[in-house]
Amino acid sequence: MSLHPDLTAPEWAQRLRQTDIRKLYEQDASGRVEDAAVNAIGTRLLARCGSLLAADAAVRGKAECPQCGCVIKHDSRGDEQLVCSGCSWAGTWGAYRQSLKGQNLRLGNLRPVVEHFVGHFAHFRTARERLIQIDFLLHQFQSRGDHPGEVFATSLLEGKEEDVEQFLETLEYGERSTSELVRMRAHYREGLSQRETVRKKEKEKARQIRRDQKEMIRRRADAVKADGPPAPVPTPRVPQKVIARLYYLDAKGIYDEDLLDEVGCHLLARIESIMVVTRTTHGQVKCPLCPKVVEANLLSEGPIACDCGWVSTGFAIREFYKGRRLTAGGMEPYYEEFLSSFPHACGYRAKMVLVDQLIHRFHDFMAQREDVMTRSRAGAANLIEGKAWEVNDFLDGLTYDDNSTAGLAAVRQVWRNRLGRDRQEDGNVG
Ligand SMILES: [Zn+2]
Ligand SMILES: [Zn+2]
Repeated sequence: MSLHPDLTAPEWAQRLRQTDIRKLYEQDASGRVEDAAVNAIGTRLLARCGSLLAADAAVRGKAECPQCGCVIKHDSRGDEQLVCSGCSWAGTWGAYRQSLKGQNLRLGNLRPVVEHFVGHFAHFRTARERLIQIDFLLHQFQSRGDHPGEVFATSLLEGKEEDVEQFLETLEYGERSTSELVRMRAHYREGLSQRETVRKKEKEKARQIRRDQKEMIRRRADAVKADGPPAPVPTPRVPQKVIARLYYLDAKGIYDEDLLDEVGCHLLARIESIMVVTRTTHGQVKCPLCPKVVEANLLSEGPIACDCGWVSTGFAIREFYKGRRLTAGGMEPYYEEFLSSFPHACGYRAKMVLVDQLIHRFHDFMAQREDVMTRSRAGAANLIEGKAWEVNDFLDGLTYDDNSTAGLAAVRQVWRNRLGRDRQEDGNVG
């Protein structure tokens, strides 16, 4: 067997012209449909259907020999040689595939319909019976109510999709038309209107999604315009100098209750912020614009939105809080104790003791949990400005004197002793 490169490319049966079909229907509407006319159209449709089936099989790995019709299996590689075992035809799959281009050979899921037409058309004898078969085939390609978007009317007839659909809608029917055609037409129309309904719904859905997206973008833009925060803005840490002044005055016996309240309220607000951030990392995101709390996972990608219109993302929130020392780090019980006790404390002494306990608490904490010393040291630096070691030194250097609020010096001695012990242990370990 000699190989001839692309001896003949496959030739595909052409689509039918609308005018030819229209003439057939006009004949039927006038009550005189002729065998010859029906058979001419039928023959051409059979050829076209054969091409649709062959093209569909070809792209699925079973090409039909253009010379003898034998099946040639292939793996769909462009340079693959297709060699017919039934005749001498040979060619590449690339050239074969090229011949399919621009031929409107879309079969979709209509293989059963087309196979039925090809297998049964010849069995019908009268012109009217055959016309019904043609009519059914044409309208199956038009009316696919169950599969919106899969309209392949242009696989059989020339013209653009909308034109062909329009054409099928305006085919001539008259009082003398084949009665079965009239009955079936109503049936097709039902399918068409169903498809139209589905299309409308899908279009509306798509419009709604676009509207939602626009709205989301607008809200985001608004948030940016208003310089809206990606999350509640945390209260900054308390400056060292304010606390230093409070202790300096206290050691001199000057009990400045306004200054103490200022420090206490600042600490309350700061702790509140830390608790908000702690809850946020646990999925309870506080809206910065209204009192609501939104349930959201900060690690998920999607937007985090509140009913009030605020929109943010987990990423933006995480970035916003990064490096701001807003982790509770195990100090939650002490924070909560201060939150509940300070607002109800009466008198300078009671309040001063609470503040003193709070800011020195991390020493207690450290003594209890030696394994988490780094975190506990950060505990004080979460409340007071400065690096962890600066805050430690600052607390060590706070002024105490005989005139200091009763109890403070004693408390201080306790944690100093502990601190000395801890440092010794530190040294032993290191
Ligand atoms: Zn062959
Ligand atoms: Zn809100």
